[in-house]
Amino acid sequence: MNRVKGKYDVLIVGASLAASACAKRMVDAGLDVVALERNILPRHKVCSGILSPRGHRFLIENFGPLPREVLHEPTSCRGVTFHFPSMISIPMDFEGGPTPHLHRKFSDYWAIKSSGVEIHEGTSFTGLEDDGKMLNVTAKQGDKEVQYKTHFVIGADGPRSRVRHSIYGDYNKSIPWFMVGQKFQRIIECPLDDDYFHFWFHPELGHYTWSHARNRRQILGVGFPVGGNLHTYHARVEKYLRDKHGVKLEPAEEMEGCSHNFGPSLINSYVFGKGNVLITGQAAGFFNMLAEGMSCALHSGAIAGEAVVEAIHSNRPVQEVYRRQIASEVKRCTDQWNPFRIIFGNPHEADFKASLRKLSKKEQLIVIRDIVRFLKIYAPYKWGRQILAQSFMRIIRGEYPSSRWL
Ligand SMILES: Cc1cc2nc3c(=O)[nH]c(=O)nc-3n(C[C@H](O)[C@H](O)[C@H](O)COP(=O)(O)OP(=O)(O)OC[C@H]3O[C@@H](n4cnc5c(N)ncnc54)[C@H](O)[C@@H]3O)c2cc1C
Repeated sequence: MNRVKGKYDVLIVGASLAASACAKRMVDAGLDVVALERNILPRHKVCSGILSPRGHRFLIENFGPLPREVLHEPTSCRGVTFHFPSMISIPMDFEGGPTPHLHRKFSDYWAIKSSGVEIHEGTSFTGLEDDGKMLNVTAKQGDKEVQYKTHFVIGADGPRSRVRHSIYGDYNKSIPWFMVGQKFQRIIECPLDDDYFHFWFHPELGHYTWSHARNRRQILGVGFPVGGNLHTYHARVEKYLRDKHGVKLEPAEEMEGCSHNFGPSLINSYVFGKGNVLITGQAAGFFNMLAEGMSCALHSGAIAGEAVVEAIHSNRPVQEVYRRQIASEVKRCTDQWNPFRIIFGNPHEADFKASLRKLSKKEQLIVIRDIVRFLKIYAPYKWGRQILAQSFMRIIRGEYPSSRWL
């Protein structure tokens, strides 16, 4: 039989970074909030864990200094190195100095506990219904079904968001999905500088290829359209790194992967929910360049929380408030993919153009050619024209049109 677990002002689905930031805003405002997390905490999270400087500032300002146990070894990352097929490599330091290398299992747990929210772990959201007065949420705890009553639901439940699915049933079929997987290998010899996160603009390696050091092992990561084979992509990258960069590794000890909704932030196609159901973090489509999703998860989560607080105080529809407030984070995120912003501004937290200028004119042209060749593997998604159209709108209106948001 169904059990009603309780009545809350707000129910958040997820207990990760977007959820923590969101919870913090609402708990601080005195709302009665519960966060449901499907896993038992602290839970594992597939992630490289390189927090951007902006994300780092957010954590410090909202939750205080980071405890040592929320960090991997090396504890920080100095910047990013781009590698090109022409064998030119460009190291770039993060603005403001090195950033933390988060151990997501513990950083996320620390953040959600610091938010002060009531947490129901091992509780998986399964659906919701609006009875006209309140939202009735159904969840599973083991094989038991439980119910909650609440005024607002926040979907902070990541790329495969079940909350998003409950209000936009066909959405998952409407976007391309990418698989990202990483293997952990003991190092025999690795000339790659372990102070940096390494990324390859190489069309033959895959859509997203990276490597960095963690706890005396090297991570080799690959991203490719869903349906591809992780082992095949990984073997190709391992051979390439051995042949071209002299990276010698033991066979993989561990591997992990998950699917990703990479794409919506490039073309300003976010999902923010309807009625009193808000979607935030990666569930909404926030994803910065180089798969950096933590800072925009934190900021968008905080904005969702603030929107609920303001909607209650001003007695305004929460979607109206949220959509007005979230426009700033949309700008931050989509600007990262906007060619005009990249050429004429500096939307990233490491200065690629300054590093490029240090190369000879000939090398600069080779790098630009390599980037163009790499971008061609994304041609089947037809994002190019949409990115350009949205970028023009950004020039004309000063912001990205909200008409493209769900
Ligand atoms: C391989 C890889 C490497 C990455 N590297 C980086 C990096 O270096 N830097 C960076 O900034 N970002 C990185 N990212 C992206 C980053 O991990 C995400 O963008 C970020 O975690 C999104 O945060 P979120 O809070 O929106 O969602 P998530 O962190 O995905 O959290 C969602 C939470 O909701 C819970 N949940 C899901 N469904 C339910 C349900 N039905 N009921 C209850 N709970 C549910 C999940 O268990 C999870 O705890 C990487 C991602 C991958 C896959």
